[in-house]
Amino acid sequence: MSKPTMTMNAFVIAIKQFDEAAKILKLTENQVAMIKEPRRMTEVSLPVRMDDGSIRIFKGYRCQHSIARGPAKGGIRFHPNVTADEVRALAFWMTYKCAVVGVPFGGGKGGVVVDPRELSTNELERLARRYIAEMADLFGPDMDVPAPDVGTNAQIMAWMMDTYSMHYKNFLPAAITGKPLNLCGSEGRKKSTSQGLVYCVREMIQHEHVGKDLKNAKVAIQGFGNVGSYAGEILNRMGASIVAISDADGGFYNEKGINMKTALEYVEKSPTKTLKDFEKVCKVGKYDDQMKVLEEEVDILIPAALEAQITQENADRIKAKVIAEGANGPTTPEADEILYQKGVHIIPDILANAGGVTVSYLEWVQNRMGYYWDEETVNRDLERIMVKAFHDVMSTAKEYRVKMRTAAFIVAIERVRSVAEIRGLYA
Ligand code: NAD
Repeated sequence: MSKPTMTMNAFVIAIKQFDEAAKILKLTENQVAMIKEPRRMTEVSLPVRMDDGSIRIFKGYRCQHSIARGPAKGGIRFHPNVTADEVRALAFWMTYKCAVVGVPFGGGKGGVVVDPRELSTNELERLARRYIAEMADLFGPDMDVPAPDVGTNAQIMAWMMDTYSMHYKNFLPAAITGKPLNLCGSEGRKKSTSQGLVYCVREMIQHEHVGKDLKNAKVAIQGFGNVGSYAGEILNRMGASIVAISDADGGFYNEKGINMKTALEYVEKSPTKTLKDFEKVCKVGKYDDQMKVLEEEVDILIPAALEAQITQENADRIKAKVIAEGANGPTTPEADEILYQKGVHIIPDILANAGGVTVSYLEWVQNRMGYYWDEETVNRDLERIMVKAFHDVMSTAKEYRVKMRTAAFIVAIERVRSVAEIRGLYA
């Protein structure tokens, strides 16, 4: 995957998106000052004892961008390319993502510079526990609530929740979301981001008469982790044909469609938990460069890997009619403009992938009540929230004659701004 260059720096992208919407809203300098900058950025060194007895220091971050509308909320990423700016950008997007779907949270994000695949399970556990222990005073159900992101999962959230609970000698499940189901997790959480994304795709296709219904639509997916794989599975079940998929270990295509159940089972069983060597067991072609998945002749493209994948270099070659951004920040502003001019309908990240934080909110609510809902109830709420958010953004895009991304920021900024103003400045 191409590493973002300075011109594609995620924080620069985030600020550009904000400024575009703020200009249309004619925000004053004071209004911008109240809501644009991250509230707190913490950087820590995390010493971890490795299995061979040596001690390795990992760099860790937590950014709380905003707590205007509620506790900071956002995942923790374990990835070798994590930087302070990336964490800031992701925290920023969380503030506006929570506002777009109307869940009562602010925005936060965390990250550790590490390739989790190089660590043993025990090393990973020690790193996860140290991360929370080091910043325990920052977190809490009413302060800042982490969740999984790239490179972290429900097991890691369980270790983190345990560390936090033991630190305060209490049982505090609402401090972390995305936990395993049998440890106060929520039904529907595992697939929530993908399910939310599919609700948006369905609404977009119905609304914009993209020329196809979901049945028989052709789909390409970049990234076959939590978001990409389940989005493929749900769309496949709804009759869509997934003709191209990729992950860090390769890209694969079959114009007749790739069976998602087979692909998911393959990843589950593979020692690397990736699509490596998938072409050896399944009737698929393998791209010489997995970035080509983005350029397939499809109706729907789902970038669900990392940021800055669709750039001014490849935007012109993209043939999809709809792009649903599973990943955060997969499209650079330059590419965004090219695609807008081409008439491509982009469902922006802060809307398209908000299903995860929406069900995180429902998990947090259940943890605080101590009463748990079934999957049907959770998905009904998720659908209601996502469909409303989609139409709030769509009608704003029409009202202001702007792209959906700008419209999503207009909706979200208005919600954050109005709350920040009502609250005013403390001291
Ligand atoms: P994940 O770690 O489960 O999966 C990431 C996938 O991207 C993996 O399959 C990985 O192999 C793949 N990838 C890495 N390099 C690649 C490359 N060069 N080409 C193709 N694929 C490549 O992470 P995830 O949770 O699925 O998150 C993916 C994106 O979605 C991230 O941007 C994340 O911030 C965003 N997101 C995730 C959630 C969630 O609930 N998990 C919610 C909102 C947004």
